[in-house]
Amino acid sequence: MARVIGDTCISCGSCAAQCPVDAIKQGDSHYEINPDTCIDCGSCEAQCPVGAISQA
Ligand code: SF4
Ligand code: SF4
Repeated sequence: MARVIGDTCISCGSCAAQCPVDAIKQGDSHYEINPDTCIDCGSCEAQCPVGAISQA
């Protein structure tokens, strides 16, 4: 399981700074989570100011 980032992401970068396994990178239109690296800890979801992160 992994968290996913939706289209409402405003690319603020807060989640990437919070991720303990460095699974979040800036993508073409918004930030993206690598599902192979994500350990589903939830830190990024709590950090997101626009609620763009949810469970896959
Ligand atoms: Fe990183 Fe945790 Fe978010 Fe997965 S759920 S992307 S491990 S902060
Ligand atoms: Fe996008 Fe939310 Fe991450 Fe900011 S914290 S880059 S708005 S997903």
